[in-house]
Amino acid sequence: MKGVKIGLEIHEQLDTESKLFCSCPTDYRDAEPNKSICPVCTGQPGSKPFGLNEKALNAVIKIAIALNCKIIVGKPVQVRRKHYIYPDLPSGYQRTSESIGVEGELNNVQIHEVHLEEDPGRFFLREGLVDLNRSGTPLIEITTDPVFDSPPHAREWLEKLASILDYLNVTKKEEGTMRIDANISLNNGNKVEIKNINSFRNVEKALSFEITRQEDLIRRNQTVERETRHFDEKMILTSPSRKKETEEDYRHMPDPDIPPLLIKKELVEKIKKTLPELPQSKAARFVKLYKLSGQNAENIVSDPYAADMFENVSKFVNPILASNWFVGQLKKTLNYNNMTLRGSKITEKQLAALLKMLEKGKITERAAELALREMVLRPADPKKIIENLGLLEFGDLNTIIKEILDKNEKAVNDYKTGRKEAFEYLVGQVMKITKGSADPEEIRRLLKRRL
Ligand SMILES: [Zn+2]
Repeated sequence: MKGVKIGLEIHEQLDTESKLFCSCPTDYRDAEPNKSICPVCTGQPGSKPFGLNEKALNAVIKIAIALNCKIIVGKPVQVRRKHYIYPDLPSGYQRTSESIGVEGELNNVQIHEVHLEEDPGRFFLREGLVDLNRSGTPLIEITTDPVFDSPPHAREWLEKLASILDYLNVTKKEEGTMRIDANISLNNGNKVEIKNINSFRNVEKALSFEITRQEDLIRRNQTVERETRHFDEKMILTSPSRKKETEEDYRHMPDPDIPPLLIKKELVEKIKKTLPELPQSKAARFVKLYKLSGQNAENIVSDPYAADMFENVSKFVNPILASNWFVGQLKKTLNYNNMTLRGSKITEKQLAALLKMLEKGKITERAAELALREMVLRPADPKKIIENLGLLEFGDLNTIIKEILDKNEKAVNDYKTGRKEAFEYLVGQVMKITKGSADPEEIRRLLKRRL
């Protein structure tokens, strides 16, 4: 889109057992409000923070390396206090580190910087209630340059980023742990920031709304204010929340209670060695090793769980056949049931057994599809499922067709002398025996070949 500049700030909770500066558990989701707290994470006067949670720091370094950032090594990185007043922040400041990684890049999107900070608590505006269980949970913040030129571009990139975070396995997996701020300007005008968007789909929706709103203001010769807006999910619109603070308003200052971090080169090298094979290189390997299409490879590697399962299934069946099922029927069936592959509990052994039966022509494509639908909901040995569904009794489609042709000499001769309806009669005979579970197109194709 012309003149559109979008930048993103992504906040994601890191997967640590305890909070950033105290030993309170971060696993507070089932806890009663204000139970997973202590004087440190509620900012009580006189409380002293513990040393910074090392696991959280290592997680940020790992992500920064994967995003091709330069890590700030051998130079003090200060933890600073960022002041603002809000009920979810009893201390009146949020602790946030200076940049840990800078100048990264992912899929042609420049990453400005990556740092560590603590999550504030939660304030329920309507009820006027505060829950501080979340307060002090370690977060990574990833900031991109304003390089996205359309809302779908931003969304697609976020999906790539999420896939990488999934591979790195150092962030929380629960729903709602990622929050996104998106800033947008049109024709180099004032920047508007939309805060706290909770899903990629909503990022796209909020930005699309904002483009329409700003275009409308420009058309009527009005100014686009520099401001922070809030996205209303139900109304699908943004509304002003507060005027954007300038950096000075936050009165950043080094936290006197936290010694500056000093990241050693050896630590970075050590973490580098723990990086898994990331989606991009995995996709390239799948294309080379298994001869998959680029599209299939990219589709499969976006989920590390699916990628592993695909590789294991491919030990038993043709990888191209397997890949077509992973991106085709399997994905379709899971989506239809609103499930993920991991969530379905279907095992690689079951999947391999099903595809093996298909590969050997023991069942038709259609029968495999029907069995898969059942397997996704109630994982079990596909042989049993196929038996129970009565999909095996007619055996191999080719054998059935041969039998039908042998039995129906007259119809075959009629067809050969140009009577088209004889062909449909033969199709009908095969359908009858397979009880409608075979694909009519497949029957037509095989019949034509034999005739
Ligand atoms: Zn605490």
